Amino acid sequence: LTSALFNRIDSTDGQIKAYVTLDKDRALETARLADEKADFMQPLTGIPMAVKDNICTKDLKTTCCSKMLENFVPPYDATVISKLKDVNAVILGKTNMDEFAMGSSTESSFFQVTKNPWNLECVPGGSSGGSAAAVAADESLYALGSDTGGSIRQPAAYCGVVGLKPTYGRVSRFGVSALASTMDAIGPITKDVTDCAIVLSAIAGIDSFDPTSSDISVSDYLKCLHDELNGIKIGIPKEFLDNAVIDKDVKDAFLNAAKIYEKLGCVCEEISLANAEYALWAYHITVAAESSSELGQYDGIRYGHRAAKYEDLKDLYKKSRGEGFGTEVKRRIILGTYLSDAQNYDKYYLKAQKIRTLIKKDFENAFNKYDLLITPTVPTTAFKIGEKIDDPLKMYMNDLYTTPVNLAGLPAISIPCGFSDGLPIGLQIIGKAFDEASILRAAYAFE
Ligand code: GLN
Repeated sequence: LTSALFNRIDSTDGQIKAYVTLDKDRALETARLADEKADFMQPLTGIPMAVKDNICTKDLKTTCCSKMLENFVPPYDATVISKLKDVNAVILGKTNMDEFAMGSSTESSFFQVTKNPWNLECVPGGSSGGSAAAVAADESLYALGSDTGGSIRQPAAYCGVVGLKPTYGRVSRFGVSALASTMDAIGPITKDVTDCAIVLSAIAGIDSFDPTSSDISVSDYLKCLHDELNGIKIGIPKEFLDNAVIDKDVKDAFLNAAKIYEKLGCVCEEISLANAEYALWAYHITVAAESSSELGQYDGIRYGHRAAKYEDLKDLYKKSRGEGFGTEVKRRIILGTYLSDAQNYDKYYLKAQKIRTLIKKDFENAFNKYDLLITPTVPTTAFKIGEKIDDPLKMYMNDLYTTPVNLAGLPAISIPCGFSDGLPIGLQIIGKAFDEASILRAAYAFE
């Protein structure tokens, strides 16, 4: 199986460019050992997979697709990687992403632009675009991504695969490079919902290395897939449909999905998430402020690229960071530093946190009455490479429907629900905190 995947990568990845690093020798050796000790109680044993390049893999380059970390080889594994290695998963390699996970198209990678397997002129989405493209192009059986504002769900939607962002705290964040540590989550990108349940079961659970990981017990995600949907109450936030940015085809596919749920015995009703319209801005303020602080560690001394020539310490910082970071990262560092400055803190960061609380309350109210909420994952399908790279505000609009979920720390999945002009459309199913089981069950019934 692993050899077959490498053959596939050899024949297609020259075009798709999903991988930035391959680990062929070690993968083949792990696969050989997995064959020897095949434990058929472990569904992931010997199954080849790919890892987003911001998740630390011991002795295997982890670059965050930045010049800053171009040659960084971690001395340890992220907890999700240790867990997968414990069940003898086979790591094929590391996948392309937007630099430091900032972006929605994978175009801000220092290394290369990944193509959407459905249409090579289009982006795969981002920031986990390499992971989603690898799975969609049959270059991996599943992949891990990270999602701070939509980076698993949006590329999954654009590439026609399944992507789950777990509840904040459900999966350990130890070993993922932080973008915004109050919102980051690691999750699976898979070909179908069953695989998603299997991978989530393998990576979920409390971890002493991540104090924000939760001790709430992990459900049997595979078993619950077959539970009845009858009587489930689904809310449809009207603000996600009545706006100027949604494509007609996306809206139609979404409304059709809602009808399918009614046929499956669910009750679908329109609801209001009144503060959702402020989510995108609260999100971007939070992300800029938190990431500018997280990225402070890359000073060219302890971590990261060091400039070859400099005059003094200050000049070393300036040149190393100036050379090491790309445009989008610099934009957010400058913005974040401004927003979290003592003079501006109340005006922006604090206000964003207040909006965050209101959004959380909106969701709480909705979940008092409804079991699940559904929305389109993204207002549009995949856009053309180059179309939005020079217009950050247009790029940020991609995250309109995904960011409220991260602000509230809730779980959500994107599953394919239709096509427009040959490009996939995603359906987002949002659940109560730690109720991944209900999301997976509804996703499985739809599939
Ligand atoms: N596209 C969003 C951003 O650029 C989300 C990124 C993410 O989830 N890592 O911030």
